[in-house]
Amino acid sequence: MLNADLHCHSTVSDGTLTPEALAERASRNGVELWALTDHDEIGGQQRALQAARQQGMKYLTGTEISVTFAGQTVHIVGLGFDHHDSTLAEGLRRTRGGRGERAQEMSEQLAKAGIPGAYQGALKYVGNPELISRTHFARFLVETGACRDTSEVFRKYLTEGKPGFVPHRWAHLRDAVQWIAGAGGMAIIAHPARYGFTPNEEYALFTEFKAHGGRGVEVVTGSHSTQEAARYAETALEFGLAASRGSDFHSPDESHTDLGALPWLPGRLTPVWEWLADRIQ
Ligand code: AMP
Ligand code: MN
Ligand code: MN
Ligand code: MN
Repeated sequence: MLNADLHCHSTVSDGTLTPEALAERASRNGVELWALTDHDEIGGQQRALQAARQQGMKYLTGTEISVTFAGQTVHIVGLGFDHHDSTLAEGLRRTRGGRGERAQEMSEQLAKAGIPGAYQGALKYVGNPELISRTHFARFLVETGACRDTSEVFRKYLTEGKPGFVPHRWAHLRDAVQWIAGAGGMAIIAHPARYGFTPNEEYALFTEFKAHGGRGVEVVTGSHSTQEAARYAETALEFGLAASRGSDFHSPDESHTDLGALPWLPGRLTPVWEWLADRIQ
């Protein structure tokens, strides 16, 4: 089977490697088809495409859009779109808007919890001023010694009910799916096991996603156990969705799943790259 890794992050969002360094690492790890999927951002696509060519890898354009569904944040990966599409670019720009103010509020909360200077501290890790994220705060909290590693940060801070969590309204599911599809790409539900949905809510997510034109689901990803991958393989078949595979790699120091180092997709599923064959560059 093709070694495809269709989910990772660069310094253009909350990864620590540049698109070029990611491409080199992916290629070294045996990746044959690659996509850079920065959060709410496509500013790294031209560089990623060029770097993929230099490394002899095939490339699909990518992004990961933050969506609010049933009061929770859901991530929709888009693959194979035209990265010059103006509706998609404008939708992503609006989705990014508000991250700055949210970060200021996160910082105020952390100061009240005894951790001052978090906004300035997080900014040191930000590669793209429009894309300050919780990951950058997490790196600062590790730097100060408040937590040992970023996973401890997300257990103690920045998540619902913990200091530094600021509820935020992201894009609508329908809009995110339509921006991607309208630009000729495929919308994919990212890491479905990570959401805290009830079975009813999850059924609603997949049903509405499909109704809006969504076509894929990440079955094999860095944050899925073997059991979770098996479970979402069934969901893919139930909803007639293609299956995607991606590490969600962010950093050599933080990510436990390296680029390309993932289990294969179960053979009975249709890989997303079959439906995207004419979008591969
Ligand atoms: P934001 O888009 O600012 O809400 O930040 C979301 C990002 O935080 C995700 O894309 C991950 O990179 C990171 N993140 C969220 N939850 C966790 C977690 N439990 N462990 C590690 N990283 C996390
Ligand atoms: Mn991230
Ligand atoms: Mn995600
Ligand atoms: Mn991701």
